[in-house]
Amino acid sequence: MTDTTFAYDDQNIFARILRGEIPNKTVFENDHALAFADIAPQAPVHVLVIPKGPYVSLDHFASEATPEEQVGFFQAVAEVCRLSGVEEGFRAIANARAHGVQDVPHFHLHILGGTRLGRMLP
Ligand code: 5GP
Repeated sequence: MTDTTFAYDDQNIFARILRGEIPNKTVFENDHALAFADIAPQAPVHVLVIPKGPYVSLDHFASEATPEEQVGFFQAVAEVCRLSGVEEGFRAIANARAHGVQDVPHFHLHILGGTRLGRMLP
């Protein structure tokens, strides 16, 4: 992995949402994470959970975020699931970099649900 793998661009759209420069439909927020509705939902429930810190991808967040940031993030995931009515199940997806077809270079977890989703590999 090169030194630039986790280089963070603070002009990315989610950084701008965190700074309040772009509006969002907030589902849940705590000290370390923000959850908001995806602008182009792919399911009846489609929420993005993002850390407030400058992490590019899941592996960046997993390797460099503090324990407090990681716990706060997953508490937000739990709250999104509780608030979104996905008792019958959901899917969580984190696209990462070019091969993962990640469009926005600020780590985000997609939470998709509200219907029976199509089968995905693997
Ligand atoms: P990625 O391909 O990076 O995993 O997913 C990026 C997601 O961000 C897409 O599902 C896209 O619809 C969503 N998105 C892009 N721009 C905006 C925006 O300005 N507001 C919101 N709420 N979602 C966005």
